[in-house]
Amino acid sequence: MKEEIMDVALKRGFLIPSNEAYGQVSGFYDYGSVGAPMKRKIEDAWRKSFIWRDGNLEVETVMILPEIVLKASGHVGHFGDPLVGCEKCKKKFRADTLVADAIGEKAGEGGQGEHVKRLKEHLARLPGMNPEELTEKMRELGIGCPECGGGFGEVGWFNLMFKTNIGPVEGNPGYARPETAQGIFLAFPRVFRAHGSRLPLGIGQIGKSFRNEISPRQGLIRLREFTQMELEYFFNPESALHPRFGEVEGRKVRVLTREAQVSGSDEAQEFTAKELVEKKIAPNQIMAYFLARETEFYESLGVPSGDFRFRHMLKEETPHYSGGNFDLEVSTSYGWVETIGTAYRTDFDLSSHAKTSGQDLSVFIEEEKKKIIPHVVEPSFGVDRLFWAVLEKCYRSGGGAEGRDWSWFDFPPRIAPFGCAVLPLMKKDGLKEYAEGLVRALREEGVNALFDVSGSIGKRYARQDEIGTPYCVTADYESLEKGTVTVRFRNDGKQVRVPAGELPARLREFAKAGKVTA
Ligand code: AMP
Repeated sequence: MKEEIMDVALKRGFLIPSNEAYGQVSGFYDYGSVGAPMKRKIEDAWRKSFIWRDGNLEVETVMILPEIVLKASGHVGHFGDPLVGCEKCKKKFRADTLVADAIGEKAGEGGQGEHVKRLKEHLARLPGMNPEELTEKMRELGIGCPECGGGFGEVGWFNLMFKTNIGPVEGNPGYARPETAQGIFLAFPRVFRAHGSRLPLGIGQIGKSFRNEISPRQGLIRLREFTQMELEYFFNPESALHPRFGEVEGRKVRVLTREAQVSGSDEAQEFTAKELVEKKIAPNQIMAYFLARETEFYESLGVPSGDFRFRHMLKEETPHYSGGNFDLEVSTSYGWVETIGTAYRTDFDLSSHAKTSGQDLSVFIEEEKKKIIPHVVEPSFGVDRLFWAVLEKCYRSGGGAEGRDWSWFDFPPRIAPFGCAVLPLMKKDGLKEYAEGLVRALREEGVNALFDVSGSIGKRYARQDEIGTPYCVTADYESLEKGTVTVRFRNDGKQVRVPAGELPARLREFAKAGKVTA
């Protein structure tokens, strides 16, 4: 499945291997002329749902950060992986993965299976396991090189950040940011003051992050340069409430609880957002609010709720300051993949930056007449993994009402790469010119419409289905006479006739209804 979809994604312009002429460096992908507009629409959908709807605010902060910022955030000291090299073939591996695999294999021998393997894998990544302990563990388990069977040396530490030097003088290190969040924390005091000094306050941003992953693999799943959409929701811990919780309290959320994981179960259970709070599974109402909104968001992008779950991370997997983390995991052809991490970060980041910078980052709470450091719940989305999940979930290998023998994508219209395609039935008799006028008018109205004249109309419909274009607008002889055009819906091939002048409004209406109606 993944090979088939990657093949389609490369062939049809969704993705391009970066720097292809020189041989792709792993961990980097470009979005092609079909993928880029779709990625942008996913980002816009997030902006509407997580920024605008709740009156949150958006910033755009820099990607290169001086070392001190990342020392304060803990990234310089702790953001890395333990690395070990084979003494014979010189290949490098992640030591924790080797240990996890070895423990998992032993667990597997005992008949406990995949889940225990995963659990052990997480446990083996305990922040507490330093390189020396891992070296010892590897020796105890007798781990040899998986490639050549050679012996391993000492485990070392590899920081995952890309390092650079700021300016022409050496000794001024900077790093490409490994997450977009730190810029938001540093922007917080000014945004807070510029918008009435009130809490709660959500500040988000969409932007690139960089991680020098040791073994990038799995297409878009583990990249070295990727896009995040992060929201930091600042609030007074004395009232950890969300003003719009009432709207989502009945919404069902699928959670893989800590109890289930510890008892070896892989089954998610359904809770309403309200139950998550009452049963104290979520640390507060704000966390439950975001889990509910994330559920809605994913469903609206074509990822069915049965295909994802929130894994409540075990205490041992989360940093000491965390008040609780939930990973949204999607079931993909790569297995369960974390695509959003939602974390209750307490006051850790603002407090660390206050301490390191010597600045007062507390805020004055009018009602309580006191200063506090706000707490933060952070939903952190990865765009690329979500993009991949949408490709997988919307892929149809054929079928449809017309018994197609071509594969197509059932993208929700609002994130389809193109809003519609305009196709003259023939090139002759003025049909092409008429259709050109139509496409120009649609583009003026803000519809990103494609134009295609080459090949039979059937072939052109198929080409649009292949990239998930929801509507094909066809200009025929009746158009010349009566000023009407046909609109064909991708999913069922049904066509309706509409006056050309009403197209933009009708297309919007169809997109909302999910079908075309006369
Ligand atoms: P994290 O800060 O590790 O919790 O990451 C937050 C989100 O960023 C994840 O849920 C992913 O969607 C995305 N992400 C993190 N690392 C990568 C990567 N190497 N490649 C692609 N996406 C990533």
